[in-house]
Amino acid sequence: MQGGKRFMDKQSLDTNHAIKISERIWWVGHYIEGDPFQCHTYLIENGDQSVLFDPGSKLTFNYTLGKIEEVTPFSNIRYFVCHHQDPDITAAMGLIDQMVNRDDVLLVTHWRAAALLKHYDLKNIPFWQVEEHDWKLELDDRTLRFIFTPYMHFPGAFCTFDEKSGIMFSSDIFGGFTEEWSLYAKDESHFEAIKPFHEHYMPSREIMQHGLSRMREYPIRMIAPQHGSIIPETLVDFMFDRLAGLDCGLYLMVKEDTDIKHLVAMNQMLRESMEAMMLYRDFSDIAHYLLSAVQKILPIKALSFMVKDDGQMLLLAPDNFYHGAIIDISPDFQEIFSCDQHTWQEKHSTHYKNIAAPSCEEVQLVMPLFSAENKICRAAVVMHMEAETTISAEIDALFSRLMEPLLTAVEREIIFRSMEEDRDVIYERSIRDPLTGLFTRLYMKDTVSRMLELHDREINSSVSIVMFDVDHFKHVNDTYGHMTGDEVLKKVSSVILTECRTTDIPVRFGGEEFLTFIASSRPGCGKGFAERVREKVGMLCFNANDQNFSVTISAGIAAHAQNEPLQELIHRVDIALYAAKESGRNRVCIAPDV
Ligand code: GH3
Ligand code: MG
Ligand code: MG
Repeated sequence: MQGGKRFMDKQSLDTNHAIKISERIWWVGHYIEGDPFQCHTYLIENGDQSVLFDPGSKLTFNYTLGKIEEVTPFSNIRYFVCHHQDPDITAAMGLIDQMVNRDDVLLVTHWRAAALLKHYDLKNIPFWQVEEHDWKLELDDRTLRFIFTPYMHFPGAFCTFDEKSGIMFSSDIFGGFTEEWSLYAKDESHFEAIKPFHEHYMPSREIMQHGLSRMREYPIRMIAPQHGSIIPETLVDFMFDRLAGLDCGLYLMVKEDTDIKHLVAMNQMLRESMEAMMLYRDFSDIAHYLLSAVQKILPIKALSFMVKDDGQMLLLAPDNFYHGAIIDISPDFQEIFSCDQHTWQEKHSTHYKNIAAPSCEEVQLVMPLFSAENKICRAAVVMHMEAETTISAEIDALFSRLMEPLLTAVEREIIFRSMEEDRDVIYERSIRDPLTGLFTRLYMKDTVSRMLELHDREINSSVSIVMFDVDHFKHVNDTYGHMTGDEVLKKVSSVILTECRTTDIPVRFGGEEFLTFIASSRPGCGKGFAERVREKVGMLCFNANDQNFSVTISAGIAAHAQNEPLQELIHRVDIALYAAKESGRNRVCIAPDV
């Protein structure tokens, strides 16, 4: 047996010897110094019916053999289980084939693995295929259950559950990359070692979840994977839960980059960016989360967006809180926006372009976003960098994956924006009378009821209401025409608007009838206002059909009594106005208090 460098792992276990992990179950692997990819071989000592799991590679088998011999003579091993076909667990089978000296040894595997393992051309060890034996192996003191976990990461892969010890020999699942290796996982932080292994190696989340759910049907008390660390009972549930939520298939992103940690960071960035675009409605939130996601892989200090909208260029940037500002477009950007996707691809090998910022101190990466339908540039993402950065092929590929969702987010924002503008117009129309610019009755109902409620609660306040009506207005219409009548209404209204304060509510109540609600701490405050309006209206000069004419206006005033309904208040002010009309017009009458 070759001597290996002594290694004591964190738990002071001497890995130069077989280590007992459960009753009659032993770790007989070999620690390769500095290798993050430790391979484990396990032995169930069961007299002359012993079982060896994943014997290992030619690199390590001599060490493994020495450890087996510490536990039981090698000739006691009858079953050699190969959970899948990888050389790191099966390459020793050729050596084993030459060593065995009993004729009942068996290679326990799945037919998909057997189809490949037969190329070792083993002379002495026949296959014993799990699917032909009801997925179980009965030993005298225990039953081993085989669980098919296809495509994790090989279509013929399976795991073994030992009912007696509760150990799941999990093959590649729950394996990990470990920098500081210990035979047993210490705590939940070990998941960080498991994570990249699965994100990168496992083809898809569905396939992994399928395998995990099959394994979870068994009462697992320990997980003994082929790489990384053994997972003790206290961590079993935690690791299952975390693994089930993991993204897989990261190798799809690889071009040149083989740094798995970097790939994991990129995947996380992609995932968080997608989530931000789906979860958040507010564009500044999307931009904020997107920035923090991209910052995980690039030294970027700010993100802004340029969008072509109705022939204008809109800039959504942190400076304007992503509310948008119309900007002039520089020649650099003009070139980008005039490019279609096809021309871009012919001209550039990347999805972004370096553009010197106006100050020339900042590096900007600009990524055009092309419309999926007509391939024209609709928008651009501007990445303001902290420093000069090299963009790897992987990150560039990531940019291309972000393009479509980004454009959707930007376009959605533009649609929301125009909807908001339309809504503002509709709202404004519903509250403002288009002829006079005074508030409508609809608006009055809303706001005045609130004003009256405040007065109901506050004894020291007062609300007055003034009702105006143009005198003999029918005559104006009849003599000078309806259009001139409209002019008169406009001018009268503008007098009311000028004379009232911003806290007052001037309303066009009917054709040529106007109400003004005045909130004040002083009772009787409406009188001065009504008189000023009356006087100024009387001084207005109109001209129609080559004739000059003027109009007068009458007014009624009423003070709101606490808890008086709006309808009653209006009724009282109407009576006061009627009194003004009756007593000769062009005057103000005050309704008696209730
Ligand atoms: P009084 O002094 O008693 O108020 O007499 P009056 O003629 O003003 O009274 P009346 O209420 O009979 O007439 C109001 C007129 O206002 C009738 C209607 O055609 C006219 N009118 C209502 N709305 C408008 C409008 O928007 N534009 C114009 N030009 N006329 C309107
Ligand atoms: Mg009138
Ligand atoms: Mg009238």
